[in-house]
Order: sequence, then C-alpha cells, then structure tokens
Amino acid sequence: MVEDEVRQAAALKRGLEAEGFAVDVATTGPDGLWLATEQPYDVIVLDVMLPGKNGFKVCAELRAKEIWTPVLMLTAKDGELDEAEALDTGADDFLSKPFSYVVLVARLRALLRRGGAPRPARLRAGRVEFDPAARTCTLGGAAVELTGREASILEYLLRRKGEVVPKAEILDHVWDFAFDGDANVVEVHVSALRRKLGASSIETVRGGGYRVSER
Ligand code: CA
Repeated sequence: MVEDEVRQAAALKRGLEAEGFAVDVATTGPDGLWLATEQPYDVIVLDVMLPGKNGFKVCAELRAKEIWTPVLMLTAKDGELDEAEALDTGADDFLSKPFSYVVLVARLRALLRRGGAPRPARLRAGRVEFDPAARTCTLGGAAVELTGREASILEYLLRRKGEVVPKAEILDHVWDFAFDGDANVVEVHVSALRRKLGASSIETVRGGGYRVSER
C-alpha cells in the first residue's frame, strides 16, 4: 500500500490484515516504487496524491519496468479525469476517496483473481477446497476451522498448486516485511494444517519447501 496519510494507511493495514492479507506500507512515491520493484507483491493499492512522485508516475514507471502486479489506484473524489489517467497509466482498477472498505476488499480480491496467471475463485487440491473470499475451508465437503495464518498459508500453497514453494517465500507472503522472527513459524503452522487436513495434505519436499498434495 502506497499512501502518505499515515493514519488512514495504518487503519487499512489493520483491516486488511484481519482479512488475511500481509501488508507493507510505503508513504512516498519513490518508496512505493522501490518496494514494488524489489518485492513480489500480489496486488498494489496506490494513492494518486503522494509526496516525491505521484501515483500516475509510479504506476507508469512500474509498467515501463515490465512489472505487471495488479494496481488499484485511489483517486480524488469526483476525479473523472484522474480515473481516466489511472487506467491510461496502466492501473487495473480505481476507487475514488472516500471509499467503502468493503468495496476495497472486494476489488482487491477481484484483482487477485484476474492478475498475472489465471486464478479461479475457489481453490482446490485433492479433497481440500478453499474459498478465498469467504476464507472458508472444507475437507471432503466438511467444514474445517482454520486460523488466519493457516488460511493464508493454505491459500498461497493452493494458488501455487503443483509447485514446490520455499519456506522463505511463504514467510514473505504471509507475514509482513517487518517480521523478523524465526522462519520455523511456518513449520508450526504447516503442522497445524496437517493435523486438520490430514498428514498427507501438504508434502515436504526435501531441501525445497512445501507442496499441496493433489490426492
Ligand atoms: Ca495522499
């Protein structure tokens, strides 16, 4: 999230984290551009009015660098010209301020489904099914209660079905940039997921990482 209004940024970060997102905040255009260039984000919320470099310029420069992370731009109220410019500079969607928080989350989820590779609305592997919007999980049709972190790890592994996902990458996506605890926290949560979803639901690939089982 690139937003210079610190209080709003903090409130949005807390809200989005409660929805299971891991959020990094940049408060200037150049910082946002740097983070978006250096880190593999799933989606970017980009304010237009920013110190240092405005949101249009940040978005245009990202696209010029061939970084295609979906961008949701926050434009000024009644700013039709802003909205047109947002789309012209390569933003995927826009929302004018003040916006409804519920709409913001729905738009972000839509961008996640659309962005990069094709992403289905419901994620499945074997008998496990996860609904990213409702954040509900079932095993063979029966509901399974997951904690927020467990759900986020499962979602990330399911989106990468068929691939071995390194532990460090899970840590980067599910915990925020500031987290400097032990990487073993991932193992703890994966063990909890296995207890709930079956020991074979998530495979450990030696020296590699984790992969959801499709059986
Ligand atoms: Ca601003």
